[in-house]
Amino acid sequence: MGLVNHTVSAVVKPIARWVSKTKVKTYEDVKHKLLKYHPRADVGFLESAYAFAAKAHEGQVRKSGEPYIIHPVNVAFILADCKLDIETVAAGFLHDVVEDCNIEAEELESRFGKVVVRIVDGVTKIGKVRFRDKTQAQAENYRKMILAMAEDVRVLIVKLADRCHNMGTLASLSEEKRKRISQETLEIYIPLAHRLGMSQLKSELERHAFYYLEPESYFQLSEQLAEKEKKQGKFLLSTIKKINRILQDNKIKAEVSSRIKSKYSIYRKMKRKACTLTGLYDYYAFRIITKTVEDCYKVFGLLHGEWKHIPGRIKDFIATPKANLYQSIHTTLISKDGQPFEVQVRTRIMHRIAEEGVAAHWTYKNGKLINLGNNDFVAWLRRMADDQKEVPDTDEFLESIKGQLQAREILVFTPNSEIKTLPVGATPLDFAYLIHTEVGHTAIAAKVDGKMVPLRSELQSGSIVEIITRKNQKPGEEWLSIVKTHSARAKIRAYLREDERVKTIEEGRHLFDKELKRNKISPNSINNTKIQAKIGEFGKKKIEDFYSAIGFGSITPKSAIKPFLPEDPHELKKLEEKREQRLHRAIEKVTKQSRHLVRVKGHTDIMVNLANCCNPIIGDGIIGYITIGRGISVHKKGCRSFSSQNVNPERKVEVVWDADAEQKVFLVNIKVYTEERTGILADITDAINKSSTIVQNLRASVNEEKNMGIFEINLQIHSLDHLNKVIQTLKRVKGFLSYERSH
Ligand code: MN
Repeated sequence: MGLVNHTVSAVVKPIARWVSKTKVKTYEDVKHKLLKYHPRADVGFLESAYAFAAKAHEGQVRKSGEPYIIHPVNVAFILADCKLDIETVAAGFLHDVVEDCNIEAEELESRFGKVVVRIVDGVTKIGKVRFRDKTQAQAENYRKMILAMAEDVRVLIVKLADRCHNMGTLASLSEEKRKRISQETLEIYIPLAHRLGMSQLKSELERHAFYYLEPESYFQLSEQLAEKEKKQGKFLLSTIKKINRILQDNKIKAEVSSRIKSKYSIYRKMKRKACTLTGLYDYYAFRIITKTVEDCYKVFGLLHGEWKHIPGRIKDFIATPKANLYQSIHTTLISKDGQPFEVQVRTRIMHRIAEEGVAAHWTYKNGKLINLGNNDFVAWLRRMADDQKEVPDTDEFLESIKGQLQAREILVFTPNSEIKTLPVGATPLDFAYLIHTEVGHTAIAAKVDGKMVPLRSELQSGSIVEIITRKNQKPGEEWLSIVKTHSARAKIRAYLREDERVKTIEEGRHLFDKELKRNKISPNSINNTKIQAKIGEFGKKKIEDFYSAIGFGSITPKSAIKPFLPEDPHELKKLEEKREQRLHRAIEKVTKQSRHLVRVKGHTDIMVNLANCCNPIIGDGIIGYITIGRGISVHKKGCRSFSSQNVNPERKVEVVWDADAEQKVFLVNIKVYTEERTGILADITDAINKSSTIVQNLRASVNEEKNMGIFEINLQIHSLDHLNKVIQTLKRVKGFLSYERSH
């Protein structure tokens, strides 16, 4: 046994007010405590909880050799000392019966009701959390996990009381266990107590943890403090007297006291400032408890009139409460002989909240649980919750706290036991993006606790999550509805935007080249250098932006190619003429095709255009697409040019040919390929005439290389049936090879 260990074992003395080896608390003690603040408490209920626990733990002993029931009774006592409601105190008696005595939750519920079971259940659950790592970040995550697991804030309070009593009885455990448990208390439970504002519980836990982790420092500091207190005794007393006189002179009623701060907080401060106790002047403080907030400020002013103060040491936590709702005014004054001393001024309610935190909000009046009416606490909860839900009075108060503490976060593990924090409702896809953007982009599924699950399933706290990726996987629009985190959504959006941008650029390049070809300019002759030289005219610096603007429609293909058109006036004129012809034909076509050819389901009188790319005719399967400013354009189903465009599925509409449309005439271009033989032109015109079809235009040419005749024919067609008939006749012409319907 080491020296340190020996020291500790030898000095297991009552160091805490709740834990005393000589004065173990009994059921009677708990009952008396409870009746003090809750005179109408249902004693029968309390007693039956105690009796049930006593029976369940019968025969069990603690490491110290004491009967086990001593532990739950002391936990219940701590809870009663914190003035908690009767259910919580009862849960203190019962908190270990599920875990240690194999009592079923159902049995507990039928005897003691839902609340007690919920608390006991929560405490049992937290007891099972294993703390694997000790780094700061991990500790914070475990605290959050515990918060998330506690459905009711009272679960945490019972757990803290449980830990408090256990800390007080660590002496009977091995040194290794003592240190481990103390370390865990320091890292996990003390910050939780702090967060709940339960400073009494917190300082008890701190005292024990300090005592077991740094026994030598603990004793050294205790001795030093005792000595200081002796020396300072006179000063403390005279200062209290002086403050009291000032208060009396000004007719302010308040309680004045002095206190040495907790050993652990002094120790921490000494370590932080790397100084000895002599170098610290704020290891003790005077406390003035007033009746009203107004008095707080009055007292503050009076003190500053009497003593000099240290500038920069005034802290008004009344105007700006700490996150855990602590309120007080702090200031540091300097005595006549140059000694600094700290003063804290607060009201009684502020004092209770400072000492008891969350627990201060349970209080009894005439046997009824009431809220202390401190609106700031409610405001604080709201702030924590960042939602504006009204927090109503007492009955729903517990519910509201529960809501606040049911963290909006879950914690999950990577396969390497790293903890990741995600909002409630997060999916494996969020997790994937949290790991790495690339993992997110290529995720196809996930394994949660070894089981394959889809990416949209909801993750639960405590799960181990593994992401399965595939190289060619890509994010899609629908992923936006799967993820819950902003960052994952932003990453998916960025990907989609980039994807869209690439597509738009491609589309722009395509439109640009097409327009060049239409003007008989080979796209190959317009290289990037030439384009780069001209795009300044469009206010663009990069070729990509130029193409993108064309693809997006902010630059029309026509205007885009203008700078690239030949400058020869003759050539220009020819192009101009061609363009005019085309325009003329287009107008002709549109006017011939009545706008009542096509009906849009559910609408009348909508401007409808037959698309130029596929020139649908009656009988063709068609689909409508709502364009911007040009009504509905009608494409043939399966039109390649349409499907290659960036089609927004929401703008697709169902359209049908109008029954009256039979009368109309469509211009259809077909290309017929034939063998090269004399007389074939006559045969073809003959065949078309036989099918009583009017030829608007016909151009014949010969491909000498392939020894092939090519006929571009412009026909007036009434319907698809009509066209098919014409094709049938053409097919019977000797030497017919193939045909295509062209644009
Ligand atoms: Mn316990």
